[in-house]
Amino acid sequence: RPARTRKPDWIRVKAPTSAGFAETKALMRRLNLATVCEEAACPNIGECWTKKHATVMILGDTCTRACAFCNVKTGMPRMVDAQEPQHVADAAAELGLQHIVVTSVDRDDLPDGGASQFVKVIEALRRTTPQTTIEILTPDFRNKAESAIESIVTARPDVYNHNLETVPRLYPTIRPGARYYASLRLLESVKRHDPSIFTKSGIMLGLGEERLEVHQVMDDMRSADIDFMTMGQYLQPTPRHAKVAEFVTPQSFGAYAAIARAKGFLLVASSPLTRSSYHADADFARLRAA
Ligand code: SF4
Ligand code: SF4
Repeated sequence: RPARTRKPDWIRVKAPTSAGFAETKALMRRLNLATVCEEAACPNIGECWTKKHATVMILGDTCTRACAFCNVKTGMPRMVDAQEPQHVADAAAELGLQHIVVTSVDRDDLPDGGASQFVKVIEALRRTTPQTTIEILTPDFRNKAESAIESIVTARPDVYNHNLETVPRLYPTIRPGARYYASLRLLESVKRHDPSIFTKSGIMLGLGEERLEVHQVMDDMRSADIDFMTMGQYLQPTPRHAKVAEFVTPQSFGAYAAIARAKGFLLVASSPLTRSSYHADADFARLRAA
């Protein structure tokens, strides 16, 4: 059905040409930080960077995995940068961030999967910008998940995000190397360790999932006590990546959002251009003010 896979006009993005965009970019280069905004070729970069919102990607720009939907490069990563935690905190201070989202590549090569770097980043942020709320978006840490979670939860981020990415049936092709139930368990375990930390997860739509499968994912997430849910349209970053199966209409995103809210999520973000970190600051501020 070609009509459903041609890029529709609701996927419109702002060109990255503003002064704010240039300043954000210069700052990231000066502090030697990678961003998921650039590495994942996020369509919202024009809008977010103009407002000086950027999502930092720690532990380098090279991932040990190769998910079929992801534009981040795969290979042998570099050594961990000891300056990185303070650089992230400096970036938060210079950008004046009230809320920061920090993510990372998967580092299956590291003994702790990179957990200690998340801890150091949280500590540096608390020291440097104590008013900034912290959202971390972590990998699944594979067989090191329990110890990784224990140490990260002790550092007390405000929001712990880990994306399920898609429905379990599509894991073998879209997210090989990860296990759906392991990801759910990871989030459940965060909540068990510290119920005051908000948990968050998201999926991409348009990969060939069925409506009832999406509803099931929502139920699974609620069973794992996940507080926030995000849904956005999958966009194929290059022809080498998984094809878009369908462009889900804004109306369908709205219908999914209504169902998710009825299922009890505290925050739901669902639109074609929604990404984990898209408007995460404003959404979280609204929740805290409520
Ligand atoms: Fe970066 Fe997130 Fe904005 Fe995309 S939505 S540009 S990843 S902050
Ligand atoms: Fe991309 Fe994360 Fe998969 Fe690495 S593990 S390829 S960063 S989605």
